[in-house]
Amino acid sequence: MTAAAVAEIGAVLRRTPVVSVVSHYNPDADAYGSSCALTLALRRLGRTATCINESGILPGYRFLPGVPDVVTSFPSDRELLVVVDCGDRHRIGESLKGELSSFKTVINIDHHASNDSFGTLNYVVPTASSTAELIVDVLEALGGGIAADEATCLFAGLCTDTGSFRYSSTTARTFGTARRLVEAGASPHRIAQSLFSNDSLALVRLHAEALCGLELIAGGRAAIVRVTTEMFARHGAVPEDADGIVERARDVRGVEIAVLLKEDAGVWRVSMRSKDPRFDVAAVAAKFGGGGHRAAAGFRWRRPVGELEALLPGEIAAALAAGDACAA
Ligand code: 5GP
Ligand code: MN
Repeated sequence: MTAAAVAEIGAVLRRTPVVSVVSHYNPDADAYGSSCALTLALRRLGRTATCINESGILPGYRFLPGVPDVVTSFPSDRELLVVVDCGDRHRIGESLKGELSSFKTVINIDHHASNDSFGTLNYVVPTASSTAELIVDVLEALGGGIAADEATCLFAGLCTDTGSFRYSSTTARTFGTARRLVEAGASPHRIAQSLFSNDSLALVRLHAEALCGLELIAGGRAAIVRVTTEMFARHGAVPEDADGIVERARDVRGVEIAVLLKEDAGVWRVSMRSKDPRFDVAAVAAKFGGGGHRAAAGFRWRRPVGELEALLPGEIAAALAAGDACAA
């Protein structure tokens, strides 16, 4: 079924001269890497391809080939849109989602278990470590190989979505894909330097203040961290500087679930992580209208944060209890 889906997607891409590729707003390396790799490959094969992201170009990801060319709106041609790394149609962003229906064909390539197959053609593999891994299959189906710049984009996505090859989603297939990408020209050292050894002082100070305020709940099995507008202002930090804080909270000994509450232009963006997918944070997110993976999920909260803080401990305790029952 999935092999047929990839073959069909390859065939559609081969016969379409103008293609738009979009990933989720507030992109991470998998969103940018997957969308830019596909865009670059299509251009190399003679297509007119545009890479779109509602958040535009985040400076920290400029090193990824193709990112400096990312635009924030769809071009006029509405023949074909490829949506990558989006669990649902809303993830492409408020300003773009209304235009989804203007495309004749929508291809949905993703690895979120909560994906509702919103495309005309869907290649959704929840067991894949990253969307980047699925784009490798699509490039194979396209038949033009993988160029070094494309491999760099895809390796960055593979690396970050597996927590540097540490998460339970990391399989022999992941390393097989990594090997192919390195053989195609990706440099793990250079990519890791750009991703992980290039933090601004503002980011480090924001992380320090947030983590000093970490609170343990559920008898030390869950952690809550908050990042407020005042904290961003105090350190001169930007919203994406909060990336990585929730993982640091998750990695505290004894903690199974970590939650980050991030104030962003009047909305609270909630990020959750679990150390083991047995503890299903996607189920917690779903209770609040969000989604994601068992070990990484999130939602947005538009009401006073105090109301959320009153509800969360109960939902987290329920997720811990359900995970404990799984293990028993
Ligand atoms: P992050 O915490 O890094 O923002 O997101 C982790 C995962 O949670 C993402 O891969 C995404 O699938 C999911 N996620 C985060 N925020 C939302 C949201 O507002 N709605 C939905 N449906 N999923 C989200
Ligand atoms: Mn992803």
